[in-house]
Amino acid sequence: MVSVDPSLCGYCGSCVSVCPVGALDLQETRLAVSEACVECNLCLSACPMGALVAATESPRDLPMLQASYDVVVVGAGPAGSTAAWQAAEQGLSVLLLEKRQEIGSPVRCAEGIGHEGLSAFFAPDRSWVSATVRKIRIQGLIGGQQRLLEAESQQDQSGGVGYILERRVFDCALAERAAQAGADVLVKSAATAFWWEGDSQAVVQVQSPWGHHEISARVVIGADGVESRLGAWAGLDTTLARHDLMSCAQFLLAGVDIDPECTYYYLDSHLAPGGYIWIFPKGSGCANVGLGAQSDLVRIPPVELLTRFVESQPFLERGSAVTLVAGGVPVGLPPPRLVSDGCLLVGDAARQVDPITGGGIANAMSAGRLAAQVAAQAIESDDVSQAFLSRYEQEWAQGVGRRMARNYRLRRAFAPEQRTSERFWLVFAISVGAAK
Ligand code: FAD
Repeated sequence: MVSVDPSLCGYCGSCVSVCPVGALDLQETRLAVSEACVECNLCLSACPMGALVAATESPRDLPMLQASYDVVVVGAGPAGSTAAWQAAEQGLSVLLLEKRQEIGSPVRCAEGIGHEGLSAFFAPDRSWVSATVRKIRIQGLIGGQQRLLEAESQQDQSGGVGYILERRVFDCALAERAAQAGADVLVKSAATAFWWEGDSQAVVQVQSPWGHHEISARVVIGADGVESRLGAWAGLDTTLARHDLMSCAQFLLAGVDIDPECTYYYLDSHLAPGGYIWIFPKGSGCANVGLGAQSDLVRIPPVELLTRFVESQPFLERGSAVTLVAGGVPVGLPPPRLVSDGCLLVGDAARQVDPITGGGIANAMSAGRLAAQVAAQAIESDDVSQAFLSRYEQEWAQGVGRRMARNYRLRRAFAPEQRTSERFWLVFAISVGAAK
């Protein structure tokens, strides 16, 4: 029987179209080969990725990448692409690895970012901004009463209080910046292991359509998101407690009637225990409508709770869900160690998300920039040891990390049932920018 290498399969369906016996079936994220396969091998030449292997054929390795880099970055989200871009700008040789075949897709985000967080890197660009936010509306059953808070930004030259991005485009644009600065970017290329060889050498094992390789690096930056494995491979404990994970579901609803400049938040301890519901405008009658609930309090799957919410809101009910997003947001404190010999963690992999809002894009980019700076200093000093790289931990803890730690303490100070109290209402309003 023909076999499929899932890490190479591009899920394009070409092979299915030429199979004379219907032995191939393209399921959503998997190509299945059934017993009906007669080993005619017609599908092999239809596959653009070389993912199908005849029963008699042994796997092949394609031409080699550069064997060693100053910096290898694992994961091309905002954290990884920023790290690769900033490291390449400092003249380092950089490889940016992304396991997905399309950077930024599928989106696992509500795509909101504050003006301050974005402008620390660049001005908003029409190609990746779907909406400019000027108003914030928070609703909730607070202290037993329905409350509504509406805030409007003082309009200035800069645009608005924040933006709703088109992450699919934004993430690609960031990776393009890294490439323009000189980084090698490789998609559909997953890091499958990391180890420290000693003598200032780290190694990343990579599986990609170009073969299975071991690539050496002076420093490896782990930007592999909430599902990070790099930390564990490097001996760092990144396991989250269930109360530190928000389990989220989101629809991109088309055909809804909302204010295109307003973000809406709902505090509802029944529908979103320990979390909240959001509606973020995406332009042209579309919105990201999502719900995040603290994972240890989830009794009914968030996607079901979200459906109930949408059905209860007349202005959303007529919309159609054109995309379903499922995702986890780490809202704990970063682990005690973010670095080991030859390795730094950034972004969701380092749990650097705001514990109250769940916002992590701006933090991921800040962490990526800081990690690149420290990696460059370490390489320059010919010392990539954990002791040297711990500068990154210290600078993070003294900067953005200080605010995150405060917000974590605040979140934990309010038991989930108290998150509909007056005091938490105010904390939440300040965190999302609706109050000072
Ligand atoms: P990611 O964006 O997750 O990127 C990690 C990348 O690493 C991925 O592309 C992944 O494919 C790749 N990768 C993983 N493993 C490997 C491997 N072994 N080899 C190669 N590549 C690998 N934040 C906000 O600021 N605003 C919001 O409105 C917001 N809404 C959210 C809504 C939801 C439902 C969710 C789930 C999250 C939301 N967040 C939001 C959080 C935000 O999406 C993340 O904090 C942010 O994307 C973190 O960036 P990152 O680069 O660290 O990780």
